[in-house]
Amino acid sequence: MNCSNPIDAAVLADYWVAALAKPEEEAVEEHLLNCDRCGTRLREMISLAEGVRRLAREGSLRMVVSDAFLQRAAEEGLRVREYAPAPGGSVECTVTAEDDILIGRLAANLSGSSSVAYQESITFAKAAPTNKMIARLVTFEEGGGERLLGEYIFNHTRSLPGPGAW
Ligand SMILES: [Zn+2]
Repeated sequence: MNCSNPIDAAVLADYWVAALAKPEEEAVEEHLLNCDRCGTRLREMISLAEGVRRLAREGSLRMVVSDAFLQRAAEEGLRVREYAPAPGGSVECTVTAEDDILIGRLAANLSGSSSVAYQESITFAKAAPTNKMIARLVTFEEGGGERLLGEYIFNHTRSLPGPGAW
């Protein structure tokens, strides 16, 4: 089951979300009809993507999310808790048992948007003791240097009982 000309992983991903142009899509389809190897890769990719989506919906991943993602989560009835400290500033924050998604909105001067919605793992936050978390938004310059866009302090107060509670 070898493939002399495997379909690129990015092309497979685009094929799965129907983002390919028609001729390209037909070429991939044709290839998949005759190639078990690439068919297996596609199935593996789909199950991975579904796993990631499920984790994201559970709010357990640390990642940057879009406003559309948050909108959809709210429409699905999930409780989104969001904190938006000013750059250089701090905010008092917590999570409760009813919260599903925890967002730190990091405001900065970005091309195309005015903030980054950073999702903290709700699983981690629910178990975390009272503590201070500092988030830094950095950009990479040409040549590899880092430049600080903003620093944000989250003064987390634990409001759930259990290990780590004060
Ligand atoms: Zn193939």
